[in-house]
Amino acid sequence: MSMQPFLDAILSGASGEDIAAIPIPESYRAAHVLRSEQEMWAGVESEDKDPRKSLHVGEVPTPEIAPDEVYIAVMASSINFNTVWTSIFEPLPTFLFLDRLGKESVWAKRHAQDFHAVGSDAAAVIIRVGSAVRNWKVGDRVTVHCNYVDDQDPSSHDDSMLGANQRIWGFESNYGGLADLAVVKANQLMPMPTHLTWEEAAVNALCASTSYRMLVGRHAAQMKQGDNVFVWGATGGIGAYAVQLVLNGGGTPVGVVSSENRVKLLQAMGCENVIDRRAEGYQFWADEHTQDEGEWRRLGKKVRSLIGDDPDIVFEHPGRSTMGASVFIAKRGGTVVTCAATSGYMLEFDNRHLWMKLKRIVSSHFANYQEAWNMNRLIDQGRIHPVMSAVYSLDQVGEAANVVHKNQAEGKLGVLCLAPEAGLGIQDPEKRERIGEDRITLFQRHARGELA
Ligand code: NAP
Repeated sequence: MSMQPFLDAILSGASGEDIAAIPIPESYRAAHVLRSEQEMWAGVESEDKDPRKSLHVGEVPTPEIAPDEVYIAVMASSINFNTVWTSIFEPLPTFLFLDRLGKESVWAKRHAQDFHAVGSDAAAVIIRVGSAVRNWKVGDRVTVHCNYVDDQDPSSHDDSMLGANQRIWGFESNYGGLADLAVVKANQLMPMPTHLTWEEAAVNALCASTSYRMLVGRHAAQMKQGDNVFVWGATGGIGAYAVQLVLNGGGTPVGVVSSENRVKLLQAMGCENVIDRRAEGYQFWADEHTQDEGEWRRLGKKVRSLIGDDPDIVFEHPGRSTMGASVFIAKRGGTVVTCAATSGYMLEFDNRHLWMKLKRIVSSHFANYQEAWNMNRLIDQGRIHPVMSAVYSLDQVGEAANVVHKNQAEGKLGVLCLAPEAGLGIQDPEKRERIGEDRITLFQRHARGELA
């Protein structure tokens, strides 16, 4: 394995100086899709597109690093829904993003390749720093957030998510985290939480930061203590962090899931108000073109029966299947905050319910560096926990992406990249004990059937 010397050095506790003396290999192992296969799913329905066929694991050439970038040895990463989108080439093949990026500058040109090395999360060790990197050094253990911004663009200096050419690393850029090595900008780096394993540390940044911005940051719903927050997909990637943020911030979550098994998990998280959407049989769409307002009302009544009120905030991401209901059930003056549209992005809602009751729909997308940093700090403080239910090896990345594509996993799936086994990387075992193994591993224990 081309990265073996780095792995040996990291496992043996080598100094940053020793790590910096190891040569960077000319190629490395990465999960990637191929430009030559971007038409492979023509005519196939979304649900039948199989990431196991399009996600390959193999050597890709190592690019140079720009002065403001670092190479990281990736110990672990995670599956995000964007890797599912890349692997099924929907809504667009991501090579379009890479080609557009490639035109921006000499350094950006490196990204436009016939392979796309994917992945937007990582827990890693820095193995080289570019000449302009100031705050980080070789040997530092880090997590990586995926906001990829051009710091010379004035539009990214109020809120970097407003940057005209803001991108998501490993989705709209190349050399992502599902690999043994990755290239990241120094302003994507955050200190690795010291009580977590590599894989526990790797699963948080993308989903947790997204939920933080949607609920807590000043750019979206701005949840207050006491708010009632309705969360779709409450044991999913972003939903499970949303539930924790609501509980941590003094609010009341109402969590929606689709099985008895997930109801139990949600209750174990401390969410007392739970709706099993499958058991309740909600059918918001009577047919492909018509929504059923009676079903919205039935959901609204259910929420009132649980919390005695309408939600101040609806945490929305399923999109077409739920948006009509989300707008309807939000409280007068309340907020629907949306970051996605998994079931379809052409949304429909009854505008009368929006304007007559003075509701707002607020958009949100990932998080700026400050928001991601604040979220990482909450995790490091042990106030918010990883929601990792299972761990895969990098060679199984297609399988793991397929599980997420099919909505078969709770929380997040970790992926071991260089880390030879799960359970390594904890820097502060006493802190882990103080915070509580049970809380940190709740989703894993649930997946193993160990919750009472
Ligand atoms: P996930 O782990 O698959 O969880 C999504 C959850 O949504 C599932 O657990 C499922 O829960 C629920 N769900 C799925 N389809 C549904 C439907 N038709 N109606 C109601 N609930 C449904 O995915 P994730 O990581 O949380 O991501 C969710 C979406 O957000 C994806 O589209 C992703 O691309 C997007 N996202 C966007 C950003 C951003 O920055 N804009 C960041 C992260 C994720 P139940 O079946 O249990 O109800």
